[in-house]
Amino acid sequence: MNTQMLNPNEIQKAAEIIKNGGLVGIPTETVYGLGADGLNPGAVSHIFLAKGRPQDNPLILHISEASWLGQYCQDIPEVAWQLAKRFWPGPLTMILRRKPIVPDVVTAGLETVGMRCPAHSMCRAIIEAAEVPIAAPSGNTSGRPSPTTARHMLDDMEGKIDAILDGGSCQVGVESTILDLTCDPPRLLRPGGVPLEELRDVLGDVALDPAITRQMEAGEKPRAPGMKYRHYAPKAPVTVVKGMPVRSAEYILEHLTDSGWEGVICFNEFAHWYSGYLVERLGGVVDTWEQARRLFRALRAMDEAGVKHIWAQCPDESGMGLAVVNRLSKAAGFHIVEV
Ligand code: AMP
Ligand code: MG
Repeated sequence: MNTQMLNPNEIQKAAEIIKNGGLVGIPTETVYGLGADGLNPGAVSHIFLAKGRPQDNPLILHISEASWLGQYCQDIPEVAWQLAKRFWPGPLTMILRRKPIVPDVVTAGLETVGMRCPAHSMCRAIIEAAEVPIAAPSGNTSGRPSPTTARHMLDDMEGKIDAILDGGSCQVGVESTILDLTCDPPRLLRPGGVPLEELRDVLGDVALDPAITRQMEAGEKPRAPGMKYRHYAPKAPVTVVKGMPVRSAEYILEHLTDSGWEGVICFNEFAHWYSGYLVERLGGVVDTWEQARRLFRALRAMDEAGVKHIWAQCPDESGMGLAVVNRLSKAAGFHIVEV
């Protein structure tokens, strides 16, 4: 199959492919998604094949307006409407009870479904033109870092999907925040583009799923099935170094070998410390939004250069830092050094 690269004025074409049961790479504000008609089980099953995604890992349904929620979900709590009003369109996925119209293949057989209304205008325009909710996981091969540009998505999906619509670089750079509203208090299943502090502003109490901060043990079941898999990972092993920025920068410097086959992902302030090594700047120490935007690009750049080991500095967990720490920790298989 030849994967076509579509430009922003080919929204109609992207929507036609989806309506006809095909697969399209879709820009969103978080990361590129691999979209199909969310009401067409055959089309959705091709998403799993193209990504090599485990069948038990459900997909998120993307809608163009909160008013579509009632078509696909039941027992919608009042608080879902409040959250939609404040955060949609935007990087928040709400887990709600599904209606039978949502195919099993989308929810991996769960009685709940993840719903999101994305902020990227081209993404919403495709959903509107297709007139169906679009099921879409991130557009990477399963396990790899998520794509934040159309080219990154092409690197993984060329020949496997019908088209990718090039909508530029993603503004958020990490996936949506996933919040389970079927339990009390609501539970954060994955940190993402809406910081936990902002959710607590609206909800008061929010529980944190343990899968966010530690590796799941054999037999343990996180509420977001995807959180149990190794994820976001480049080919080389990653060591995350946590601690005060100067201390973590020093630790990395002390542990780099002379071979030159190592890469460093660090805060901008320390980039000049590591001459002779491949350096990817994550952003300034306190700019966790920039860090989120650059993280997956940095991991992919390490792969392209073929380094054998990656060292990464890590922010603290406030604001967008929680999502950055979570993605880095998972990329490292929770191989974390505290200094
Ligand atoms: P991705 O779109 O690639 O970021 O993957 C979607 C994420 O949403 C995965 O981690 C899934 O496990 C999670 N997810 C989707 N639907 C549900 C659901 N009904 N309940 C819990 N987690 C979900
Ligand atoms: Mg993903």
